[in-house]
Amino acid sequence: MRIRYAFSFFVLMLFLCASISIPTAIFVFRGNGAAPLTFVIDAGHGGEDGGAVGADGTLESEVNLAVALRLEQMLALCGFPTVMTRRIEEISYPDAAKTIRERKRADQEYRAALINGTDGAVLLSIHQNQYSTAGPRGAQVFYSSTPGSEDFAKEMQARLAVLCGDHRKAAPISPEIFLLKEARCPAILIECGFLSNPEELCLLQSETYQTKLAVVMTAACIARRTELEKAYGKG
Ligand SMILES: [Zn+2]
Repeated sequence: MRIRYAFSFFVLMLFLCASISIPTAIFVFRGNGAAPLTFVIDAGHGGEDGGAVGADGTLESEVNLAVALRLEQMLALCGFPTVMTRRIEEISYPDAAKTIRERKRADQEYRAALINGTDGAVLLSIHQNQYSTAGPRGAQVFYSSTPGSEDFAKEMQARLAVLCGDHRKAAPISPEIFLLKEARCPAILIECGFLSNPEELCLLQSETYQTKLAVVMTAACIARRTELEKAYGKG
């Protein structure tokens, strides 16, 4: 069953990437002698922080994790090392953190230390958007001020636009977003879609769409690999 699942992913990946003009030969990576990039995949929120909530009670943290785990599989399939900031919904907090605010801060500091302690790190922080009305939909990518982040975000935005059918632009991240402010590596935050839009909420809950998102994200990682390596002086 697992093998069939992995095979389905692979076939879907070939199909989707072919449809966005990426040569299939890139799936066979040959190292250029440089230390590899490691994609740090951050499933936003989790634990006591569920993030945004859909009209049906769907938690952003759960959608983020589902997409993040698929992205991990896809990148691994393409030979990229990955690190996850979390793999389950539960988060264990330090005893010293008593309030929700302190616990959230401790969790964010743990994630920042993990990112900054990873050689060749490239951060992809996965989130879902929410708005006060049901209209807005589509993905938007934000980037930090570190070298390589803006171009990576633009690549990601362009590819997600093909999937989502919208024309948003990648934008600089707000300085209030702790993780992207702290990360010293190329770092982007991907709002995959709006939980407040009923049709998009349905899509974001579907395993097929989650897989498509992961495939498109992986294609952007592949496309910007050389440029991201240059951010580390390896290109
Ligand atoms: Zn979020």
